[in-house]
Formats: sequence, C-alpha cells, structure tokens
Amino acid sequence: MRQDPLAYLSFELDAIKQQGMYRQLRVLQGEQRSRTTFDGRQVVNLSSNNYLGLTTHPRLRERALDAIRRLGVGSGSVRTIAGTMSIHVELEHRLADFKKTEAVVLFQSGFTANAGAVSSILTRDDVVVSDELNHASIIDGCRLSRATIKVFPHKDVDAARQVLRSLSRSSRKLLITDGVFSMDGDLGSLPGLCDLAEEFGCIMMVDDAHASGVFGANGRGTVDHFGVHGRVDIQVGTLSKAMGALGGYVAGTRTLIEFLRHRARPFLFSTSHPPAVAAACIAAIDVLMEEPELIDRLWENTRFFKAGLKALGFETGASESPITPVIVGEGALAMMLSDRLFEEGVFAQGIGFPTVPRDRARVRTIVSATHTQDELQFALDAFARVGGALGILPRPVRV
Ligand code: PMP
Repeated sequence: MRQDPLAYLSFELDAIKQQGMYRQLRVLQGEQRSRTTFDGRQVVNLSSNNYLGLTTHPRLRERALDAIRRLGVGSGSVRTIAGTMSIHVELEHRLADFKKTEAVVLFQSGFTANAGAVSSILTRDDVVVSDELNHASIIDGCRLSRATIKVFPHKDVDAARQVLRSLSRSSRKLLITDGVFSMDGDLGSLPGLCDLAEEFGCIMMVDDAHASGVFGANGRGTVDHFGVHGRVDIQVGTLSKAMGALGGYVAGTRTLIEFLRHRARPFLFSTSHPPAVAAACIAAIDVLMEEPELIDRLWENTRFFKAGLKALGFETGASESPITPVIVGEGALAMMLSDRLFEEGVFAQGIGFPTVPRDRARVRTIVSATHTQDELQFALDAFARVGGALGILPRPVRV
C-alpha cells in the first residue's frame, strides 16, 4: 500500500496540540452581530472586525439584493478580460473620492491588495524597509517581490532612519507600515515615517485595513487622521472589516493605479467581485458619509471597554483603537482564557505564536458601534471572573 506522503503533517499537528495551540474553528450560526450564536452558544461577540455593524446594515443588504436582481451573482471573468462591470468602476470612483486620491484599483481582498501592490512595484534590486509587526500580506508581498527586506523595530522611526542611512542613496526604497496594527491596536508612526520618506526619497505606503471606517473624518483612515494627505504614495484599504463586505483596494496616483492594473497579479489572474459585493461597498461609503454617528458610537464603546479592562488590572498594551489586547504571556494560558470566557458567554479570540511573539500571547478584543453598554459590561464582568480564577489578574476581583 502507498504510504501517505503527507503523513508528516500529523506530527506537525501533534506539536501544535502539545503547545495547547490547536483550534477548532468556531462556527457562526446566524448573522455577524455584537450578540450572536457561535457553536450553539449565545455570546457577546468581541472577535469580529465588523466595527460599525455594517455586515447587517439594511442599506447594504438592500443594495446587494438589488444588484443580484439586476446584475446576477457573479462577474464571470477577471477584470482584464470580461469581468469589469460598471459597478466596479463606480466603486473605484467613489473610493478615490472618499480617499481624496486620483484613482483607486479594487482587489478581491485586503490581503491581495497588499501582496499584489508590493510584489509588482518592486524588483530584486530594490529594498523594503518594514515595521516588524506589519501584516502577513505585506510580508508575503515583500517576499514575492524578491526585494531586500530590512525590518525595523515596531514604530521606531529612529531605527528606521538608521536602516535608511545604511542603504545606498540610489537604491529604490519602499517604507511601509500598518496604519493600525491588528494584534496590538496601536497606530503606525505616520508623520515621522512620512518625514523619513521625504528625507531619503522613499516610496511611502500605509496598510489601513483596520483604519478604514474607523479613523479620520468619516472613516477615511490614518492618512486623514494624521493630516498627511499627499505624503503617502500608496494607501491600501479593506472593504472586509468596517465596510462590512469583502475586498481591498489601493488608492494613489493615476500612474500607480494604471500600473497595478497591468502588473498586479491578483488583479490580473483572479476573478473580480460579484456585483452584490461591489454594491454593498458603495452603500457602505454612503453610510460613512451620512451616518457618521456610527463612528462616534464605536469610539464611545471603545473608551468604555478599554477603561473597564484597564481598571480591572489587565495588561492591555499600547492600543489606541477599538482593538484592545489582553496580554497574558503563554499561548496556552491565552487559549484557556478565551475558552473559559466563551463558556461564560463572551467570544474573544485567543492569539499566540506565530501571530504574536511567544511570550506575548493574548486574547484580542474588538468592540463595535453596535454593542450595548450592557453587553460590554457583561463582558467585563466575565473577564474579571475568569481573569481572577486563572490568576491573570494581580488580585482576585469581586463582581
Ligand atoms: N492588513 C491588515 C493589517 C489586516 O489585519 C488584514 C486582515 N486580517 C488585512 C490586511 C487583510 O484584509 P482582508 O481581510 O480584506 O484580506
């Protein structure tokens, strides 16, 4: 009998189990909401990126349904052959307007937007200078480009300057940061990095996946938040988080966007969005423009919940966004905290190595505009009980 050539993978899985890092996927039974059912249990949901509750917003739902009725369910082709529908072009125009850039090109996801953009604009002769906590899609894009990768310590502008000083003046350089770091919730050092990009003649790029719909006027992102319009050459955004649907995009000059349409491989070789997704994203921009109170509510909830976790005595890192990590150290302890919280009716995902450093495992919490204060208080009470029981809190907390 033929031996299974993939048998070695079961040893890898055993190792993951021994580290306490083996996960079953939690299954959502119903809609992605602030209180919903996963694996048969009603929970307060602190795990989704649905910052503004747009996954179930009536305007997005209606526009998506209307697009299905008028335009069908699929685009049937890649963009460069027969898959550019007028609704894709409309969404790109709306996004360019929204981001205040000359042009935008859509990608199927934020991941492919990052990987496709970085890998196509650089060659093996170029250098990327990248924050150590940048998202996996940036790292993969860098690797695919074959450029030399120089990593600087998290948010450390001076260290990035040292790296840039060590490089030849004539080499082409991409300086790249996340706008909001997804595991820590802190912000990239945009103003300082923009200064560096100008000083050293770098291309400046920001991945604003977690900032789209959250930071800046009407959720325009960190470039707007920091007032650095015109100083960031490449902005990546996602339509999969606060925007409630799916997709990614690159915003920049007309030249950049035209180039990506000719060279970015996910754009060239993967089918475009179904029309319903594009329609929902257009409706999401309408909501950001016409219902900015949703963003205000997101920030009220963020302040309330963050203050609550801190008051309990948890280590919450340096977060400045609706993402607040509860850092516990060991991966197995983070998974235990997450599991016990789930039993208590709170879903907050445990995250360990390799997503975060080995000794910085955590439970990551994300609040949304649609959480009620009662739901958030319920979650805080559960954190207090479980954190006390597992010895994570410095002292037992009574609630
Ligand atoms: N960048 C960052 C910082 C992210 O957190 C994510 C999503 N995990 C992405 C990019 C990818 O976005 P998408 O889910 O739209 O592929």
